[in-house]
Amino acid sequence: MESILVLTHADEGASLTKASLEAVAAGLELAARLDAPLAIGIVAADAASAASALAATGVRLLSVSGEAFAQPRYASDAAACEALCRAASASIVLAPGSSRFARVAAGVAHRIGGLIDTHITALSGAEAIEATRWFYRQRVEAVLSRDARPWFLLLDAGTHAPFVGAPASAQVEQVPVNLPVLRTQVTGARAPQAGESTIRPDAKLLFVAGAGWTKKQPDGQIHATEAGGLILDFLRASGASLGSSKSLVDQGSENQPVLPFLSHLNQVGQTGATPRHPKGLSTCCHGEEPHVVGWRFIGERRAISLDPNCGWTRGKADVVYIADAFQVMAKVNEILGAKVIV
Ligand SMILES: Cc1cc2nc3c(=O)[nH]c(=O)nc-3n(C[C@H](O)[C@H](O)[C@H](O)COP(=O)(O)OP(=O)(O)OC[C@H]3O[C@@H](n4cnc5c(N)ncnc54)[C@H](O)[C@@H]3O)c2cc1C
Repeated sequence: MESILVLTHADEGASLTKASLEAVAAGLELAARLDAPLAIGIVAADAASAASALAATGVRLLSVSGEAFAQPRYASDAAACEALCRAASASIVLAPGSSRFARVAAGVAHRIGGLIDTHITALSGAEAIEATRWFYRQRVEAVLSRDARPWFLLLDAGTHAPFVGAPASAQVEQVPVNLPVLRTQVTGARAPQAGESTIRPDAKLLFVAGAGWTKKQPDGQIHATEAGGLILDFLRASGASLGSSKSLVDQGSENQPVLPFLSHLNQVGQTGATPRHPKGLSTCCHGEEPHVVGWRFIGERRAISLDPNCGWTRGKADVVYIADAFQVMAKVNEILGAKVIV
């Protein structure tokens, strides 16, 4: 008989992260299917406040809390997760694949003599647990099962609907932790572009910028500054997440015109990210296969390209506008009420 533990953590406020609530939903589903007992472990500065969102689950809640757990840090997070795992003695441990838990989960699995699989996108199977993940840049889908226990499964974000329940006061068992000497002091977070985060995993729309934005336009000139203004105005007005083609982000290292707010983190495709957004809009991008492979999980796809023979028109987008993206996005921004900086 399996027993399941879901590990969760709070964000910088006191609430549980969305990815944690997705892991809770996956745990509830799995426990119901296997008819197995479920516990949820919380790592947070103030676990009582985080736990209220889980009261409606009706399952056993364990927590490790205190100021040491306010911010991610390997030593304290690993100690917290280890203590929760030992207290729950679960055979299956589910955790969100957040940067915070991805960093410690393998170490914790090792400490308690377990094994781990990461990037899990689905859990199925009634007799034995079957975990699904992708390999080779999302080209091969595998279904894994293991006899070894405890088995840690790190779930990819965006693969389950987050748990939603009416907040209420919940009874939480406080688990003691023996913290090692903490040599690391978290003094703050430094983001690549201060004040402007362009990668928004929870956005409804992925806006992709291709190399065409910084190429010579029909008037024989490059309009990189105007391109940057149009793109940023659209992102601010729409709340979209910014993706890029490889060609565009590579230009920085090739001494060609660049959009200063783009980095390789924005790259979508075979050697980039495979984001999950319900909709995608590609602009000034040719839609070649190594790029479009990164759109695997994008539902509705539209593209704006000057080239009627681009990859998007060959069955890779639902709608392709053969048009000048500078003109289209200026009009879209006008409609959205955004201020266009030229
Ligand atoms: C091993 C390997 C891995 C790769 N991995 C990736 C990857 O992860 N991600 C990725 O993106 N690529 C990847 N590539 C590169 C990929 O094959 C393409 O070279 C790249 O995606 C092209 O980028 P692009 O479409 O932005 O640029 P281009 O091919 O230069 O296309 C620019 C497009 O913009 C259009 N355009 C220009 N001006 C306008 C305008 N005003 N309005 C509308 N349209 C306009 C042009 O018509 C053109 O179609 C990889 C390649 C290899 C070999």
